[in-house]
Amino acid sequence: MLDFEGLRTGAGIFDVLSRAQTLERQGKRVLHFEIGQPDFCTPECVKDVAKKALDENFTGYVSAQGILELKEAIQDEIEKTRGFCPLLNQILVVPGGNSAIFYMIRAASDNPLKEEVIHPNPGFPTYRAVVHYLNTGNISLPLKEENEFRLNPADVEEKISPKTKVIVLNSPQNPTGSVMKKEEIIRIAELAEENNVYLLSDEIYSKMTYDETFYSCSEHDECKERTVILDGFSKAYSMTGWRLGYVIGPERIIDRMGLLISMTVSCVNAFIQKAGAAALTMKEPQEELKRNMKAFRKRRDAIVDGLNSISGFSCLRPQGAFYVFPNIKDTGKTSKELADKLLEENGVACLPGTVFGDVGEGYLRFSYATSVDNINEAIESIKDSF
Ligand code: PMP
Repeated sequence: MLDFEGLRTGAGIFDVLSRAQTLERQGKRVLHFEIGQPDFCTPECVKDVAKKALDENFTGYVSAQGILELKEAIQDEIEKTRGFCPLLNQILVVPGGNSAIFYMIRAASDNPLKEEVIHPNPGFPTYRAVVHYLNTGNISLPLKEENEFRLNPADVEEKISPKTKVIVLNSPQNPTGSVMKKEEIIRIAELAEENNVYLLSDEIYSKMTYDETFYSCSEHDECKERTVILDGFSKAYSMTGWRLGYVIGPERIIDRMGLLISMTVSCVNAFIQKAGAAALTMKEPQEELKRNMKAFRKRRDAIVDGLNSISGFSCLRPQGAFYVFPNIKDTGKTSKELADKLLEENGVACLPGTVFGDVGEGYLRFSYATSVDNINEAIESIKDSF
C-alpha cells in the first residue's frame, strides 16, 4: 500500500512560507529565512539563451533522457568536476533534483516492502517522505552536532542490513550546511560496495562550499555500479523556478528512471534544457557563482556571529550551502514553539529543525539567502526578546 500521509511529512517548509505570506498580507514586515533558494537572479546570458530558444520555436517534445546538447555539456561538467566522463546512457535530465529523489529510490528498488533506505536525520525532507510513501523501511541516521553534523561511516555500518537497498548521502548538506570529509565519503562508498547497496549522492550544493573542498563518492565507481549523482541548476545558478536537474548513474537505473520520466512528464521542457547547457558552458554564470559565494560567505559569518551572540543559541560555522542550524536547547523552548514565536513576535520566518526529522528537535534552520542588513535586523530583533 502506498502511503500518501507519508508524502505530507515533506511539506513543512511550504507551511511556514504560507503563514509568513499571510502575515505579510495583513501588513506585517517579515524577514525570510525559511526557503532554500538563492535571492540572486538567474544569469542574464542564461535567460537570453532560453528566450532565443523560444523565438526559434524550440518548443516541442524532446527525448525523455534529455537533449544531446545538454547531455554533452553534462559530460564535460562531470569530467571537469568529478574526474570521469559518463556515457550518454548514464545521464538523465530531470525536471528538478527533487523529482529525481523519487525516481531514483523507486528505480533502485525491486521489492519496496522488503527493502530499507538509509538517510540522514536531520535531512532534506523528500528522502524520508518518499521512502515512507513507498512503504520501504525508513532507516534514519542521526547527524550529531559533536561530529559537526557529518554522517559517521561507523553509524552507517551499524545500520546496514541485508535489506538495505539505498544509502542517501548529501554533502554539502541541507539543513546543516555540513560538508563531509573525503575519507568519510570513501569509507561509505566502500561499505556500499561491500554490501552491494546503491548510493544516492545528492550533490545539489556541490559548487557551494567555503573552506572545505567538495568530494564526490562517484570517483569510486564512476557511476557504473552503484553511485547515482544528483545535481542541478537551482542553487548554484539561482534557477529554482526553472525546474531543471540531472542525474548520472548505472545504465540500468538511468533506463528505469527514464521510463518513469517518460510515463509522467514525457520529457523536460525543451527550451529550458538549452538554458541549462548555457549555464554549464558559458563563462558568466561561473563568474556570477563566484561573486555570489563571496556574498554568501559574508552572510554566513554575519548570521553565525549574530546567532552566537543571542542567549540560549549556539551555532556552528558550516562549510557549505547557505543554511545554518543553531542549537536552541538552552532557550527552554521546543523548535516549533520558538519558530512560531520568532515568526509571530519578531517577524522572522525560519524553520523548526523537526521539519527535517525528529533529530532536528532543539534546532532551527535559517536559510541565509538574504542581505546582511536583513540578517542584522533579524538578529537584533531576536536578541531584544531574550
Ligand atoms: N536536494 C537537496 C538537499 C535540496 O536542498 C534540494 C532543494 N531544496 C533539492 C535536492 C531539490 O532541488 P531542485 O528540485 O530545485 O533541483
